[in-house]
Amino acid sequence: MKRVYNFSAGPSMLPLEVLEKAQAELPSYNDSGMSVMELSHRSGLFTEIITEAEALLRELLNIPSHYKVLFIQGGASQQFAMVPLNLMKNGKADFVHTGSWSKKAMKEAEKYGKVNVIASSEDDNFTYIPNIDPTTLDPDADYVHITTNNTIEGTAFQEIPDTGKVPLVADMSSNILSEEIDVSQFGIIYAGGAQKNIGPAGLTVVIIREDLIGNAKDICPTMLDYKTHSESGSLYNTPPTFAIYMAKLVFEWVKELGGLKAMQERNEKKAAILYDYISQSDFYQSPVAEDSRSIMNIPFVIPNHDLDAKFIKEAQAEGLETLKGHRSVGGMRASIYNAMPVEGVEAFVAFMKKFEAENK
Ligand code: PMP
Repeated sequence: MKRVYNFSAGPSMLPLEVLEKAQAELPSYNDSGMSVMELSHRSGLFTEIITEAEALLRELLNIPSHYKVLFIQGGASQQFAMVPLNLMKNGKADFVHTGSWSKKAMKEAEKYGKVNVIASSEDDNFTYIPNIDPTTLDPDADYVHITTNNTIEGTAFQEIPDTGKVPLVADMSSNILSEEIDVSQFGIIYAGGAQKNIGPAGLTVVIIREDLIGNAKDICPTMLDYKTHSESGSLYNTPPTFAIYMAKLVFEWVKELGGLKAMQERNEKKAAILYDYISQSDFYQSPVAEDSRSIMNIPFVIPNHDLDAKFIKEAQAEGLETLKGHRSVGGMRASIYNAMPVEGVEAFVAFMKKFEAENK
């Protein structure tokens, strides 16, 4: 069987152990004679799956009991609308603008109220995480929105800002489960792109403080009201059952590896291997400010852009896939989510060394 090291930003690698477990259980889940895809979402077996998935996520992230966990659909792109539809009572929110995804989140929020940019790194092409001056925070804002990891630009918040009584809403699509966090610092955490650290595409995880539920605008569609999903245990309508099952297997895998502490150590180690090599090389360059680096998405460039296509083609021939940078940034990007093993990053750096020696 051929398996490659897939550096895609998402959908991205899943742990082989998880795929094999799903494969073994596919035709007949738990001796039911049915696959998970064929089970009713109201059946006892699926109830066990979704209950266990939530319990595992709560354990991994140490989620306090006054937070709800919702398994819904629509991706982070739908959260860009759901958050303002549910939270914008006073009609205004503060945003930290750190790249393409925060821009889309702001564009959507503007349909429902006033968006105030309290910090931005647009002046330098989003290559750094801007400082937040606490005096610019509006105490009457309905929420403050940040994108903790900027998948395209390769930056990440190194510290979570203190927004006082104003709830902090975080798009954690590309770094949830990559490191330990303190959930109580947030009003809402959403991971739309479950297709990175959680499982296959089609599932959106929302972790929401209970007092933020039940305040939706009158115009809010039933399906976009957090209350709908909270009151029904994420079973108001048919949820993405197979994706929830896969997420459960991934949560079990993370737990077996030692939970988020172990995951964080492994991720920091992987990022350091790649960044240490790029830093000492005068062939490759990182566009990202050193104090703002993501440990999930690592963009880099070869100053001679004519070599990009050759780099990507030769990497692919060695089983190193999907390294083309996002069209808005150019160059290359290596996404090294939880499922990327250390050996994958080592193999990639060995290739980079060889390519440098041959093309310098
Ligand atoms: N926010 C971030 C940080 C992302 O990385 C992505 C997906 N790459 C999105 C939002 C959009 O997610 P989706 O495609 O699931 O709507």
